[in-house]
Amino acid sequence: MTPRADVIVAGGGPAGSATAAALARAGCRVVLFEREVFPRRKPCGDYVNPGAVAALDRLGVRDAVIRAGARAVGGMHVAGARGDAATLRFTGRPGWSVPRRILDAILLAHAAQAGVRVYEGATVAAVVRQGPRMSVTVRFRGRGGVEAHTAALVVGADGLRSAVARAAGLDGASRRGRYTAGSYVAGLAPLDGAGGCDIGEIHLRPDRYCGVAYLPGGVANVTVALGRRVIQGWRGKVREGYWRELLAFPGLRGRLDRAEQVETVAGAGPLAYRRRRCVADGIMLVGDAATYVDPLTGQGVYLALRGAELAAPIALRALDGAGPRRAALAEYRRRRDREFAGVFLISRVLQRLAFQPALAGRALRRLAARPDLGSALIAAIGNVAEPRSVLRPGFVARALGVL
Ligand SMILES: Cc1cc2nc3c(=O)[nH]c(=O)nc-3n(C[C@H](O)[C@H](O)[C@H](O)COP(=O)(O)OP(=O)(O)OC[C@H]3O[C@@H](n4cnc5c(N)ncnc54)[C@H](O)[C@@H]3O)c2cc1C
Repeated sequence: MTPRADVIVAGGGPAGSATAAALARAGCRVVLFEREVFPRRKPCGDYVNPGAVAALDRLGVRDAVIRAGARAVGGMHVAGARGDAATLRFTGRPGWSVPRRILDAILLAHAAQAGVRVYEGATVAAVVRQGPRMSVTVRFRGRGGVEAHTAALVVGADGLRSAVARAAGLDGASRRGRYTAGSYVAGLAPLDGAGGCDIGEIHLRPDRYCGVAYLPGGVANVTVALGRRVIQGWRGKVREGYWRELLAFPGLRGRLDRAEQVETVAGAGPLAYRRRRCVADGIMLVGDAATYVDPLTGQGVYLALRGAELAAPIALRALDGAGPRRAALAEYRRRRDREFAGVFLISRVLQRLAFQPALAGRALRRLAARPDLGSALIAAIGNVAEPRSVLRPGFVARALGVL
């Protein structure tokens, strides 16, 4: 039997673990239900941008992640469909690459140490209002049957296809967007980094892309994002389809001769920009459950961790005051809107630009010639500079070589 809770958190990814830890540290009784048993594999590019590294630092897990072997990422090499390329380098704090099965396990353990009661193999199946409290139905793996638990507030941190969002009548998941197929590959040599840092890679083609992150142990996370039809065409031959795609990226072709796939291909999708109303009576959504951005710009972990930082104090104030009704939680939505509007905008602008080969090629040539512009751009994408700084007409004109 789980103890009486002030807050139930659904989902133990970065958003759920970070929100739960912050609330427990402030004295709340927090119970977290996670569907999987950790460590678990999570389809991801395994890139943690500098803004997310700063958030991990504030959360107090920086040293644990470094001890687990996180590698510094000093920038991104972006290769366009027409052969143009630019390496965008961070001038300040680097990002990291670390497998999500490691990062997420550290974050969940940290939440447990902060006093959160963590239940793994526990799927939140339904959420309903019951008088002043929320009733949550949980299915425990291997036990059969379901249990009901109550709390004043439910935090939906259960990802893109959030059951909490569905139950609260907040918008459903998108059916549009690309699908991803990712695996771990040994024998792919990194491009030259600088100052002991690796350089991540993004390879573009007119309607698809591939991301590469170099990880501890000499393996690389290599993930492709492409249309539904392509993936459907792989039926029964996923491995062959995956490698055919990798070899079609000009910037990878000659470098995969000795490469060897060391894990199965994991898929995800459809993945498209999706923004939900993030509060309802007794409910807050955090992380992908609240807003999803295409992984091209590698901002999802940042949004999950920063969203947790925005959610926790507002949840606490509402719990201490008149209760976590929608009006009391609305400040969370306003803060997200204020802080994340530029982040969402830059992600969407770059989505458009990246898949227009002529325009993207022009920008890449210019960024290769002007490393200062490249650094400004990647600082904004990496959530360590104000996104609007690179969305100003003057910056856009310089980056496209018009000025
Ligand atoms: C292919 C791919 C590549 C990506 N690459 C990057 C990248 O390189 N860098 C980056 O920053 N972002 C990347 N992202 C985005 C990033 O993975 C997400 O934005 C991030 O994981 C969001 O964290 P979260 O905690 O909101 O959700 P998640 O990490 O998805 O965690 C949700 C958790 O909830 C659990 N859960 C789900 N349903 C239930 C339920 N009903 N009950 C209980 N538990 C439940 C799940 O098991 C999971 O552990 C990528 C995404 C994809 C799909």
